Amino acid sequence: MSGAPGPDARGRDAGDRVVIAGAGLAGALLACMLGRRGVPVLLCERRADPRIGGYSGGRSINLALSVRGLAALRAVGLEDAVLRDAIPMRGRMIHDASGGTAFQPYSRVAGDAINSVSRGRLNMTLLDAAEASPGVEIRFEHRCVDADPDAASATFEQADGSTVTIGGRVLVGADGAFSAVRSRLQRAERFEFSQSWLAHGYRELTIPPRADGAFALQPDALHIWPRGGAMMIALPNADRTFTGTLFWPLEELERARDDAAVRAYFRQVYPDAVPLMPDLAREFRTNPVGSLVTIRCAPWHWRDRVVLVGDAAHAIVPFYGQGMNAAFEDCRVLCDLLDGAGGDWARTLPAYTAVRKPDGDAIADLALANFVEMRDHVGSRLFLARKKAEKVLHRLFPRACLPLYNMISFSNIPYSAARRIAERRRRLLHASLHAAIVTLAVLAAFALGRLL
Ligand SMILES: Cc1cc2nc3c(=O)[nH]c(=O)nc-3n(C[C@H](O)[C@H](O)[C@H](O)COP(=O)(O)OP(=O)(O)OC[C@H]3O[C@@H](n4cnc5c(N)ncnc54)[C@H](O)[C@@H]3O)c2cc1C
Repeated sequence: MSGAPGPDARGRDAGDRVVIAGAGLAGALLACMLGRRGVPVLLCERRADPRIGGYSGGRSINLALSVRGLAALRAVGLEDAVLRDAIPMRGRMIHDASGGTAFQPYSRVAGDAINSVSRGRLNMTLLDAAEASPGVEIRFEHRCVDADPDAASATFEQADGSTVTIGGRVLVGADGAFSAVRSRLQRAERFEFSQSWLAHGYRELTIPPRADGAFALQPDALHIWPRGGAMMIALPNADRTFTGTLFWPLEELERARDDAAVRAYFRQVYPDAVPLMPDLAREFRTNPVGSLVTIRCAPWHWRDRVVLVGDAAHAIVPFYGQGMNAAFEDCRVLCDLLDGAGGDWARTLPAYTAVRKPDGDAIADLALANFVEMRDHVGSRLFLARKKAEKVLHRLFPRACLPLYNMISFSNIPYSAARRIAERRRRLLHASLHAAIVTLAVLAAFALGRLL
């Protein structure tokens, strides 16, 4: 089979075609965005169509969607449709080891909330929208097994085991953390790549509705059971269940325990959650363990022929709830740059790497740091005092003192700029505290000298 572009089955000029490997969250959204710009798109996904056979995502059942993701969905007219099925979470509900709870709002601004959405439903909404976009064709059961970066072509294995090579003007790797397109780029000289695994993994558990059909926990919150070195979180679903996720050291998650030992351990460590999880022991035994990886690479493009978006470019750990949001922002920024370059991919792709790579690195670092904050600090007095101080400063100086969490989750300030601003503010605060302590000490010494 040839990788050279030619007229496709619908007679369009495949010379301008963009071939996207991976019809997950980023791939399907990018197909919508490009289709609306009149760019012909061929979207190839390794799985079968989830709208026919049901969705099997293999990862978190629900996700927190925030401002960046919403901005990208708005660009293709999907924000309202997605928000209709979402559950807003206004803050964290901290569950302490004795079963007590405390609510911490995410923001002092009314209406600021992150939104719990179903991964499967969102993916299917995006697939419907991609299919309805002019010039977009989707092929399922097409697994990318190789790519030719210089030809912007990829080879796909089909359901019957045969392969087909498809080329276009640009090849997009939207095929997730273990991207086949990226792994082909990794063979090129001067392509940087690193991956690091967390010592913690995750396992999901279900909290069903109460007998009267109501949510078993307050639904407008992201629930956290911080336990120093490990934690459980729970996000609400539209069917009034919660999906709980244990983030534990892998050896603890994988250690064989009988059902009685599981229940006994949970009664001791998560006492208020146990009565809400009737199927706890069986789910703990049978639900799969997931691993958490941070992947960095550079550049995110190859000449003017290949580009990576979403987890293919930057897989991050989920503790800031930003992986999908960053993936959607990639698509929005890429398309804005394409518009700015008058559709010229040769100018767009290097600009995309230059703009987005620092942001990918920043959110990867922030997500790792937030794991420590969520599991070890959110219940501590020092953390609460810091959050209170941040809120007071934010009230006094709403623009100058926007807390880091708000910059990341409730604004479109580039991640790298948000991190820089927060770091500068932290240094300033430390210097001011230091100066205040020195001044007080000098004044105290002076007063003491006069007394003596
Ligand atoms: C436990 C957990 C919780 C998370 N929670 C959040 C959250 O709350 N908020 C948030 O913003 N993010 C969250 N994330 C991150 C989020 O899931 C990812 O960042 C997001 O899915 C990235 O989208 P993507 O389209 O780049 O990749 P994916 O969603 O992985 O999609 C890749 C697609 O490519 C397909 N594919 C793979 N290989 C091939 C191939 N060889 N050929 C063709 N197709 C292929 C796959 O089948 C899939 O459809 C979480 C992640 C985890 C693990």
